[in-house]
Amino acid sequence: MSAANDTNRTTTNRHRINSPISPPTPKSSYKIASIPGDGIGPEVIAAAVEILKALTKKLSKFKLEFTEFDWGTERFLKTGSYTPEDYLEVLREFDAILFGSVGSPSVPDHISLWGLRLAICQPLQQYANVRPTRILPGTKSPLANCQPGDLDWVIVRENSEGEYAGQGGRSHVGCDHEVATELSIFTRTGVRRIAHFAFNVAQNRPRKMLTYVTKSNAQRNGMVMWDEVVQEVAKDYPDVSVDHMLVDAMTVRMVLNPRSLDTILATNLHADILSDLAAALAGSIGIAPTANLDPTRKNPSMFEPIHGSAFDITGLGLANPVATFWTASEMLHWLGESEAAISLMDAVEKTCAAGIVTKDLGGKAGTKQVTEAVLGEILKL
Ligand code: ATP
Repeated sequence: MSAANDTNRTTTNRHRINSPISPPTPKSSYKIASIPGDGIGPEVIAAAVEILKALTKKLSKFKLEFTEFDWGTERFLKTGSYTPEDYLEVLREFDAILFGSVGSPSVPDHISLWGLRLAICQPLQQYANVRPTRILPGTKSPLANCQPGDLDWVIVRENSEGEYAGQGGRSHVGCDHEVATELSIFTRTGVRRIAHFAFNVAQNRPRKMLTYVTKSNAQRNGMVMWDEVVQEVAKDYPDVSVDHMLVDAMTVRMVLNPRSLDTILATNLHADILSDLAAALAGSIGIAPTANLDPTRKNPSMFEPIHGSAFDITGLGLANPVATFWTASEMLHWLGESEAAISLMDAVEKTCAAGIVTKDLGGKAGTKQVTEAVLGEILKL
C-alpha cells in the first residue's frame, strides 16, 4: 500500500499496522491457532472467536478456521511443559496466532513468560511488537482535557533482543556474595530492522512523525548505537519528522503533551513499560491490543491483548474483551482483510460510544453484554 493511498484513510483505518516490508497474500480461508492460556485469557479469546465467526459469516468474503490449543499453566503443572516439543512446527502451519494470556499465581512469572509467550515470539522471529493506543469513543482518559483524538499513538517495541534477550546468569546462588547478571543485547541488524519497520508505520500515518526513545545519556554503548542506527535509517524516510526522547522525560511528555506524539519507537523494556502507561492514559489496560509481527511473513504473527491473566477478576464475567477484539481487528489487517478489520473496529467503537462498557472503563456491562452488543453491531452491517 502506498503512502499516497494512505492519506485518504478513515480514522479507523489509520490504525492499520500492515508493514509495506512484505505484503499479505489474499486467501479464501485462513488458519488461526488460538491459545487462550491462563486467567481471563480463555474468556476474552472465546468472545473474540465468537465475534470473528459472526463477522466472517456476515461478510461472506473469506473464512477463518480456528484450532484451539490447551497450552497454559494447567498443562505445565500436569506435564512439566507449556507446549508439546514440536510446538513451533505446529504453529508454522497457521496463518496467525490469537493469544490470550499466560501467568498464574501457582508458577513464577518468569517461568510462565519464557515457557510460552516468549517461547513463541522469539523463535518465530516476531521482532516487531506493535501497540496502537487511542481513546475510544464513549470512554475517558484519566488526563483532564484529553479528548479522543488528542491521544492517538502507535508504539513500536523491539521484540527480539535488548533487555529481554535472555542472556545472563546467577552464581553462588543463595550466598551473601551471590552475583546475578542480566545482559542487554543490541545488534545493528536488530535495531536497523525495527527502525525501518517503525518508519514505515510512521510514514503510513497522516502526521508522519516518529519519536524514538532511548537512555543514551546514561547507557553509553547499546543506547548510543540505537541513536546512531535510527538516525541513519531516518535518512531513507525524509518525509517523516523525527525526534528523540530519553525514556524518563518521555513519561512526562506522554502525560503532559500527548498530542505531540504519534509513532513511538523504543527498546523491548522501555516500550513494554511505556505501553502500560499509554494504555492507562487511554482509559484502561482492558482495551489495549498488541501484535507480535514477523514482518518478513516467513512465520505466523501473534495477536494478543496487552493485559495479563488478571486472576483477581477471572471467572467473574467482568473481563473487558475490547483489547482482544481490537487485536483481532489488527490480525485481520495483517492478513490483508482490511475491510473486515475496519468493520470489526467500527462495531467495537459503536458499542463503546453507546456506553456499553465494562467496569474498568466506568461502565456496568460484563464480558457477555459487551460481546453481545458488538455482535448486534456486526449483524447490522
Ligand atoms: P500478569 O501477571 O499475567 O501480567 P496481572 O494480574 O499482574 O497479570 P494484568 O492482568 O495486566 O496484570 O492486570 C492488572 C490489573 O488490570 C488487574 O487489576 C486486572 O483486573 C485489570 N485488568 C487487566 N485486564 C483487564 C481486562 N481485560 N478487563 C478488566 N480489567 C482488567
